[in-house]
Amino acid sequence: MKYQEALDYVINKLEELSNYDYASSIIYWDLETGAPKEGIRKASKVLGFYSGESHKILTDHKFNKNLDLLLANLDLLDAIHKKIVIETKKDIENIKKIPLHEYKEYSELLSKAQPVWAEARGKNDFSLFLPYLEKIIKYKQNYVNYKGYKEHPYDAVLDDYEPGITVKQLDIFFEDLKEKLVPLILKINKKKDFISDDLLKLDYSVEKQKDFSIFIAKYLGFDFERGLLKESAHPFSMGLNKYDVRMTTRYFSNDLQPSLFGTIHESGHSIYEQNIGEDIWETRLGGGNSMGIHESQSRLYENLVARSLEFWIPIYPKLQEVFPENLKDVTLDEFYKAINKSQSDLIRVEADELTYSLHIILRYEIEKELIEGKIRACDLPKIWNERMEKYLGVTPPNDSHGVLQDVHWAAGLFGYFPSYALGSANASQIMNTMRDKLDVDTILKEGRLEKIKEYLGENIHKYGKLKDPNEIMEIATGETPNSKYYVDYLIDKYSKLYEV
Ligand SMILES: [Zn+2]
Repeated sequence: MKYQEALDYVINKLEELSNYDYASSIIYWDLETGAPKEGIRKASKVLGFYSGESHKILTDHKFNKNLDLLLANLDLLDAIHKKIVIETKKDIENIKKIPLHEYKEYSELLSKAQPVWAEARGKNDFSLFLPYLEKIIKYKQNYVNYKGYKEHPYDAVLDDYEPGITVKQLDIFFEDLKEKLVPLILKINKKKDFISDDLLKLDYSVEKQKDFSIFIAKYLGFDFERGLLKESAHPFSMGLNKYDVRMTTRYFSNDLQPSLFGTIHESGHSIYEQNIGEDIWETRLGGGNSMGIHESQSRLYENLVARSLEFWIPIYPKLQEVFPENLKDVTLDEFYKAINKSQSDLIRVEADELTYSLHIILRYEIEKELIEGKIRACDLPKIWNERMEKYLGVTPPNDSHGVLQDVHWAAGLFGYFPSYALGSANASQIMNTMRDKLDVDTILKEGRLEKIKEYLGENIHKYGKLKDPNEIMEIATGETPNSKYYVDYLIDKYSKLYEV
């Protein structure tokens, strides 16, 4: 049974690797939520050490020999080990394709690019960032060639975040969104003051917001015995494993929405991580799936659940009780409309449910054309502003509110944005099937949120990374990801809200 020895060897080494990942994640969590700013000096070195050790394991000769032996005997392995072996091999192949010196230069370039980007955004001066951006694009163009692709060079970067999704699929997806949503958005732009959200922008005590955040996370089903909620500048979730899932939110004393919906969004990510199957939680497959699947869970909770009228029926009185000074005389219907106000705006992260995907389309098109070499980085401010006007009917007054707003390109994250839009579409598709199986509106009205959690656990969460994103969607909905349910949902909801 030589393969059994090989399996033991590989699994042991992968456990070592996961220990380094665990330690790195704890350091990262600490840096984001509490460590003093200057602490990064040593922390970054420790992080570098761990990533070097992980790299050594994956490129080690003996490890690869054993892994290849397992690959040649895949039929002897159970489904979990089979998938672990295949995924590990894929990671190694990707590492090996890029020349080490190029990768190192690129890492250094990125660490320099981010502060420059922040300065450029602060000073509203695109020309500062341009030389860095040009180099990053050049690296990405080389990267896609090293990595290889079947049809479109952009497929190679998409594969980093959304395995199996291609330009061919996304072009159809985004064209459909553009064709159907842009006319509705432009109509709503003309009724700008039809809905007001002023009532959410009053003085809301941060202490009370904190209490309500904990209440709402528990109400959704987040387990505080296996997780915690802290504060950070940019909210995020981190699943160390299903028994230790951490998330953050942020509080503004003059706006209720960021903490409320930020907490709900991150709870969606975190409930997913807490619900991973018991059989895989300690393996390489024991975390959430691709970005598009992960984001579908956060957006399902944030938008489809928590921005519905039914969700608030049992708990709106509680919110009124906590903030009587602002909400005592506000009806549930007024509150519901306020949390669903739509307005074309310049900044992606502040965009509402309806206009959000147009921000993504703009970035998707630009990234694709940059990788293809169809457009040049120096023309980006002009291209950005023209397309904002065309898709959202607004023009940024400066580059800080335009092409410089996101950190992603400075961090080398090309191919990442589409997952945000896919996540929203997947959420609608999953909800559509869930409505066939469960009486979702009654469940929400009766406050039985555990039913939603159980359903998602059984159909999505428990699989972790055991299946590919397309397979997960097939299991959960019987179809591969598409735009139909998302577009139908948005058109139905927003034409009613705005009476257009
Ligand atoms: Zn998210």
